[in-house]
Amino acid sequence: MEVQEKRTYQAVIGLEFHVHLATTTKMFCGCRVTYGEAPNTHTCPVCLGHPGALPVVNEKAVELGVMAGLALNCEVADRAVFARKNYFYPDLPKGYQISQFDEPICTGGYLDVPTAEGPVRVGITRLHLEEDAAKNVHVGTSGRMHGSVGSLVDFNRGGTPLMEIVTEPDIPSPEAARATANHLKEILRAVGVSEADMEKGQLRCDANVSIRNPDGSFGTKTELKNMNSFRFVERGLVRELERQRGILESGGSVEQTTLHYDPETDEVHELRSKEYAHDYRYFPEPDLLPLELSEAHVREIEERLPELPGQMLDRFVEQYGLSEYDAGVLTADRDLAAFYERVAAAVDPKQAANWISGDLRALLNESGTEISESKVTPEHVIELIELVTDGKVSRSAAREVLGTVFESGDRPSDVVEREGLGSVAADELSGIVDGVISANPDEAERVRSGDKKVLGFLVGQVMKATRGNADGGRVRQLLMDKLSS
Ligand code: ADP
Ligand code: ZN
Ligand code: MG
Repeated sequence: MEVQEKRTYQAVIGLEFHVHLATTTKMFCGCRVTYGEAPNTHTCPVCLGHPGALPVVNEKAVELGVMAGLALNCEVADRAVFARKNYFYPDLPKGYQISQFDEPICTGGYLDVPTAEGPVRVGITRLHLEEDAAKNVHVGTSGRMHGSVGSLVDFNRGGTPLMEIVTEPDIPSPEAARATANHLKEILRAVGVSEADMEKGQLRCDANVSIRNPDGSFGTKTELKNMNSFRFVERGLVRELERQRGILESGGSVEQTTLHYDPETDEVHELRSKEYAHDYRYFPEPDLLPLELSEAHVREIEERLPELPGQMLDRFVEQYGLSEYDAGVLTADRDLAAFYERVAAAVDPKQAANWISGDLRALLNESGTEISESKVTPEHVIELIELVTDGKVSRSAAREVLGTVFESGDRPSDVVEREGLGSVAADELSGIVDGVISANPDEAERVRSGDKKVLGFLVGQVMKATRGNADGGRVRQLLMDKLSS
């Protein structure tokens, strides 16, 4: 078929994330959420699924779910219903997982993902709350079920609050999928919803992928399960798209299956599809009332929502007139951003940005100090900028002052006085400028006749005479005034 050969292959990708919520206790019981502790030391009748034990919803988990939803521009439902998702597996003692089905807590949001080709808006289909399963540990050399001598179950993880986030199939490439995952992780961390530590399994990702039909409609998708590194998400998708393309090019059709990407061999393997052909027989959880979220409660949570990294950057550009670059540097560290805002409230915001993203950050980086542990306070920086603005300290002397303040935590004005770093007084400076002019009559004459190049030489002479304790700009202006009349 001629048409078939000329077609382009456009990827369609949708992601599903599972995120551990940053609560201290489990989703439906009071057991502590732990990591790496002795197996089966944090369990109770509820998370072990003993008959008759009743679940109680973790309020904090609900709040974190709402926070995440708001951060992802979702609609928060006024009513959400927990449902039983029934299946049998050794890590699920009740024989069902409490999840949410047709009435999830959040729906219909989006995420603007920065990519190399510009921002991509990825729709968020839904966000729901559920509980994690326990952990099966396969004993033997491989660590996998295949070839193991036996399997054990650690119920410490069972019942950990989990949030599932599902995106729309809006992602156009494996690179964009990786960027989406990274951006989501940043947001979850900024909001404090999850530590999202992938090595601890706090963030896991499934990727659904297909190739668009020539008429623009969706093709059949396959699903890459349970990837715990975004690099593998990208690489797995590249491999799977190659596989699908190969099938289509040879005239075949893609079958809907579930796959596993093996980073070691860089190959995708089909999981036995029977194993995943579930009918979960969802029904509403009879032991829990529907969640009711009042408008007022949601607004109250929204007010506590910290500003997101992207929002803060935009605001800094708008409110303080900063470049995207400076705004990016300052907002990359929330503590530095807060420090900056206290300074910018008192003095010229651009000066504040120069000092903080430039000199101060250099001092922090050199010494490996966090702003929160630094001896420099916003008040110090405000005072320093005022000293420069009032012409009491030259810009270069102020740098030295900042260095000393950084070491000692002393007030800038004290440092200036103690170390004699103050600018020479105006009349004294005027006298020095006159002296330099009369000592260099030839150069002065050339400036008078319009040769601006020698002006720098005269400025240098004045600075030398003041031992650097004068502002270069002021000296230059003074010279020009005197040599133009
Ligand atoms: P399923 O019923 O198989 O779970 P869903 O419609 O719930 O499928 O979608 C699951 C995920 O698959 C979502 O992230 C969605 O964006 C994505 N998805 C749906 N259709 C496609 C497609 N044709 N190609 C790629 N991803 C898709
Ligand atoms: Zn428990
Ligand atoms: Mg689904």
